[in-house]
Amino acid sequence: MSTPNLLMIPGPIGLSSDVLRALSEPQRGHLDPVFMQSFSRALKRLREVFVAPGAQPFIVSGSGTLAMEMSVANLIQPGDKALVVNTGYFSDRIATMLELHGAQVTHVKAEPGDVASLGDVERALSSTSFKLMTVTHVDTSTAVLAPVKELAALAKKYGALVVVDGVCSVGGEALEMDAWGVDVAFTASQKALGAPPGLAVLLASPRAMEAWKARTKPVAAMYLDFAQWLPIQQAYEAGTPSYFATPAVNLIMALEVSLGELVAETMPVRIARHQTLARAARAAWSALGLVSLTHRPEVTAHTLSALKYPAGVDASLVKHVAAQGVNIAGGLHPALKATYFRVGHMGAATGGTVLETVGALERGLSASGYRFDAGVGVAAAQRALTA
Ligand code: PMP
Repeated sequence: MSTPNLLMIPGPIGLSSDVLRALSEPQRGHLDPVFMQSFSRALKRLREVFVAPGAQPFIVSGSGTLAMEMSVANLIQPGDKALVVNTGYFSDRIATMLELHGAQVTHVKAEPGDVASLGDVERALSSTSFKLMTVTHVDTSTAVLAPVKELAALAKKYGALVVVDGVCSVGGEALEMDAWGVDVAFTASQKALGAPPGLAVLLASPRAMEAWKARTKPVAAMYLDFAQWLPIQQAYEAGTPSYFATPAVNLIMALEVSLGELVAETMPVRIARHQTLARAARAAWSALGLVSLTHRPEVTAHTLSALKYPAGVDASLVKHVAAQGVNIAGGLHPALKATYFRVGHMGAATGGTVLETVGALERGLSASGYRFDAGVGVAAAQRALTA
């Protein structure tokens, strides 16, 4: 089997050797005591990662999209009003789900690459009574970072539940679920949590669980329903098995190992590391004359960069960089797709992998005919890492 390229797309990301080892363990059954303990530890560790000692964690087989739909299906009843702080592709996706589940959706939008002002969001919140507000913490299509803490405080003021799509943020961006008053936050295993794809991860605050219990109509999808999953999560956390649908044994054991790495690093240190790597990456981009798709540094993610192709360079850059041993990603935002590319720097990324990526990008840019002083990007990133 050939060795894959260094994976610097915005998820899935490269895995640590301990996570890989956990995946290659002999298959265990879902009632195996070793698996039960692993599942239990994974659930407990999630409360530390989300800084949510009071929340109920859920780990369910599926991708981040399943976690999105679980949040919607359990909290929304037909006719409820929902506000979507819309920063792009994934905000549109949750809005579609909200509508499918019967919600009346209002959007507060900004230009691609930006997030609506707090004033605009407050005007919308004060205009009617919303059951919930959704925020995409990092929009992976544009690298826009939303100010979740401030937005959650506003939603609280107007009595709306706060749902945060943390698929491209949790484990890389600051998120303090309890302290900030976030009611549901979710992610997927394959991004900054550092595990393979295949698990939806969701935490619900006591207030969110109360709102779910207060429903007058059943959740209209069995696999999405907290009623099915809550007893399972509670049983496994307590170290006893329970069955609703076969859990992804090996993936959960790998996730438990990766969450152990997050908890050992500690969240403040991990967040600071992502900020350092983002600073180094940004120093490289600017030295190379590359322009971010985001409008302002304050709304720019630390988990990935979205960069406009410079004049004369097109999407073939991604292939040229891959030929240099590093995988980066093309654009995703439907309106701008062909005009930019994305580089992930999250999870197990290090100063070393960022430098390797910048080096490969320089060689790819050169192969694309872009002119610059070879090494300026690498030198700028190195200076930032050394500072
Ligand atoms: N939300 C965001 C912000 C994402 O980045 C993604 C995946 N890129 C999703 C939701 C959907 O996750 P998945 O692809 O795992 O279904």
